[in-house]
Order: sequence, then structure tokens, then C-alpha cells
Amino acid sequence: MTAECKPQLPNAKPSHTGPLAGEAITRSTFDQVMVPNYAPAAFIPVRGHGSRVWDQAGREYIDFAGGIAVTSVGHTHPKVVKALTDQANKIWHVANVLTNEPALALAQSLVEKTFAERVFFCNSGAEANEAALKLARKVASDNFPSSGAMHGETEKCEIVACLNSFHGRTLFTVSAGGQPKYSQGFGPLPGGIRHVPFNDIAALTAAVSDKTCAVIVEPIQGEGGITAATKEYLHAVRELCDKHQALMIFDEVQSGAGRTGSLYAYMNCCAVPDILTTAKGLGGGFPIGAMLTTEKWAAHFGVGSHGTTYGGNPLACAVSLAVLDIVSAPETLKNVNLRHDQFFMALNEMNRKYNVFKEVRGQGLLIGAELVEKWAGRGKDFVAACAKQGLLILIAGPNVLRFAPSLLITSEDVEQGMKRFDSAVADLLASETSVAA
Ligand SMILES: *Cc1c(COP(=O)(O)O)cnc(C)c1O
Repeated sequence: MTAECKPQLPNAKPSHTGPLAGEAITRSTFDQVMVPNYAPAAFIPVRGHGSRVWDQAGREYIDFAGGIAVTSVGHTHPKVVKALTDQANKIWHVANVLTNEPALALAQSLVEKTFAERVFFCNSGAEANEAALKLARKVASDNFPSSGAMHGETEKCEIVACLNSFHGRTLFTVSAGGQPKYSQGFGPLPGGIRHVPFNDIAALTAAVSDKTCAVIVEPIQGEGGITAATKEYLHAVRELCDKHQALMIFDEVQSGAGRTGSLYAYMNCCAVPDILTTAKGLGGGFPIGAMLTTEKWAAHFGVGSHGTTYGGNPLACAVSLAVLDIVSAPETLKNVNLRHDQFFMALNEMNRKYNVFKEVRGQGLLIGAELVEKWAGRGKDFVAACAKQGLLILIAGPNVLRFAPSLLITSEDVEQGMKRFDSAVADLLASETSVAA
């Protein structure tokens, strides 16, 4: 046996520099054992309740970030904890060779509350969009087959998507997304995708043709900077899709599950999509995604055409059913609208004092504050300044501060959080002046 063939112990490393298992876990552990595709903050949260989070040192934070629009009913909501633990004591996983009660109950509830007649469950927003885009291709391939093409490819394969949009990080969804920085370096990318400027009806009309199988759009662009589609634009998408027999896909991964003050944003604009994708807030922190559609389109996903091992997992669905029950309640949606007004008033008032925002915009509890020229590109510095004051906020691109708290956040938490935000901005401005001086 040559030296090269000797079996290697799985943990044999030339020079082991990482921490030993059992050593204290700190932020520096991240740099030792994790793939460096994220740059998390210096502290590690360990506990949460409602809109408050505590880190390893016991410091408290008010949560205006909501785990990126995910913890829609706050942390450790008693009804959701009960749903999770009840289900944990029953059955966790059966895979899709069997069905399960929580998945069927959740699907029933989504069908009852939305335009949908059929539901496909998966585990994330990207997977929901992947399913939506695949379904649109399949519908076109079934209805408009091109003779002799490989894989049933059809001329009618084009997907029209918007610049600056975000649809997830699988190769198909990152290609559909309109931010080249996310697909850079991952080519060759799937073909048949055209991008058009967002909210530009003329460009959309020019791009959509009989070759289009789907138009995918976020009713309000989240990652792209909290920019809402105009009603006219969404109506134009609907009309063009009808005219060219293309499917209209609404990506409501971020805007859905009550976030905008309606259960889904399409309900505000009176344009009903053929397919809607939902994730993030739907699970309130437990990973789940869903693709909603009608019976007619669903029929094209026949047995074996698409699938996932975990999609419709009983734990995820039991949690999501409890979350959906809360976020669809009129009291919750009313709170979203009240807190929206409170956020807008507070942010605009602060802006009169500090003059840092070009615009405050958004719907419900998906709010963006775009920084003025002087602070352009400095969103991260605001996030860090807020953390120092015990406040979690987000950015949406380098120039927009984003707020996506729990839909149940109280007026007291918003008020206190805004005080911390005020201190953070004051700090940042003061440190800037002292640097300049
Ligand atoms: C977050 C997001 C996604 C991707 O969801 P993941 O769960 O991260 O895969 C897709 N679309 C929109 C609009 C999103 O905000």
C-alpha cells in the first residue's frame, strides 16, 4: 500500500487551527468554521421574546429587522411554540410518499384565504420561485410543444423579469433576479430570461410576446430597495400575460403573509396572479415556502414532475398554520397599518431633525428609508450604530435602511426603538463631524 492510499481520518488536517468542539462559542468561531459568504454582526443573539432579543452577554435589542421580514409574529409566540411542541410530540417527517394532516390543513387554509386552488410546499422562497418558473415552462411546453426539440423545449420559453428584482439564490432564480452581482461568477446561467426596467409599462409591452411563458414580478421590491410596483404596472402585467397566454407570477416571498397590511399584496392592487410564491413570514421563523396556483395550472405538475424531500414537512406546516392564523386576523392587519403610520411619523420627524433621508417609503411593515447623497452607500454604518444602541435594523441595498419588524410589534416597542434609532443617528452624525473637524 502506498502512502497516498492510506485511509485518512476524517478530522486529520495538516495544521488544525480551529476551535475544539466544546470550547466556548463566540463570534470568532464563525470565522474558524463557517464558509465566509456572510458577515454577521459582532454579537450572537441567544434568546428572543416578542420584539425583543438578547445576546450572549445579556444585552437587549429591540427587533425592527424581524430576521429579514420572517419573524412575522415576533419571537417565541406562545401559540406558535405550542403548535411546534405539540407537533414535535406527534410526528416530524414522513416525506411525500405519504401526506400529513398539518400540510393538508395549511393548504386548506391558504386556499380558503387566497385566489389559490392548489398549493405546493417547499422550504424557502427560492424553492417556491424555482417551482413557479418550472411550472410556467411546463405549462408552455405542454400547451405549445415544438416538434423534435430536446427535453420538450418550446419556443414559448421566455421569462420576463424586472431589473433590480430578487427571487432567490438557486441558479434559476438568481438568473431571473435583476441584480447581476448575485449571478456574477456562476455562469453559464440558464437561458430564456429577459430583464426589463421595473415599473416601465412601455418596456414591458415591448418585451412580452407570444414567446413569453411567464412574467415574474415582486409587487413591492424588497431586497432591491423597498420600491412598490404601481397599480397601473401590475394591471399591465396582467393584461399582457392574458394577451400572450403567459403566466403572471407574483413573488410575495417578502411582501406576503400580512406584511403589507393585507394578507397578500395582490389583494391591494386587484390584479390576481396565476402563481404566487410565499415564504419568509409564512413560517414565522420555521423554514417553509409555498407556491399557490389554480387548479388549471397545477394540473401540469403531474405525478413525478417536481418534488422535494422536506416540502410540506409536518413540523413546518403545523407552525405555519398557527402563524397564518395570527397574521390573517383583522386585529393583526389593523396593527400593521397603525404601526406603519407610527413608523412613518417617527422617521419623517427624525428626518426633519437630522436630514439623512431622501425618501421614506413602503407599505405596511415593510418600510424603507433611502439615504441622502451625503450618506449614500453608508447603510451598514447605520445598522452598526443601531446595534450599539440596542436596536436591530436592516438595509435593502447600500443606500436604503429597511424596517421589517413583527406584525404584532406594540406601539411602546416602536416608540422605544425609535428613541434608540434617534441616538444611533445622533452618534453617527457626531462621530462624522468629529472626524471632519
Ligand atoms: C428573500 C426573498 C427570496 C428568497 O427567499 P429564500 O427563502 O432566501 O430562498 C425570494 N424572493 C423575494 C422577493 C425575497 O425577498
